Amino acid sequence: MRNETCAECGRVLLEEEATEFEGRVYCPECLDSLTTFCRYCGDRIFRDDNEGSSDTPLCYGCYENYYTHCGRCGELIHNDRAYYMDDLDDVPYCEHCYHILYRADPAGDIPHLYGSLRSARNREIG
Ligand SMILES: [Zn+2]
Ligand SMILES: [Zn+2]
Ligand SMILES: [Zn+2]
Repeated sequence: MRNETCAECGRVLLEEEATEFEGRVYCPECLDSLTTFCRYCGDRIFRDDNEGSSDTPLCYGCYENYYTHCGRCGELIHNDRAYYMDDLDDVPYCEHCYHILYRADPAGDIPHLYGSLRSARNREIG
């Protein structure tokens, strides 16, 4: 049995402490501080590679496929919760911003809650 050392802090590790990730071995503490889990698929990812937010960590693939950012406040939103001002508008908004913008738009009709909610699937086809 060879002794592994943590790639981050250099500590010599017991066999059961060593976790290999992306080709390097880490101690539990470093692994915990360097990595987190994608909220969507559960894969371990480096925090530096987190495409989501600190509340909702996401791997690149899950962010690309299922999430976007609000065009007004920058909040991470699931595609199913993204609102669009109209069918020609490609900028997604969170529910909060959507209602603020909708109210500020004098041409807008009475806003109904899910009026402009479009699914990601529809957008990819369209
Ligand atoms: Zn370490
Ligand atoms: Zn993921
Ligand atoms: Zn927003």
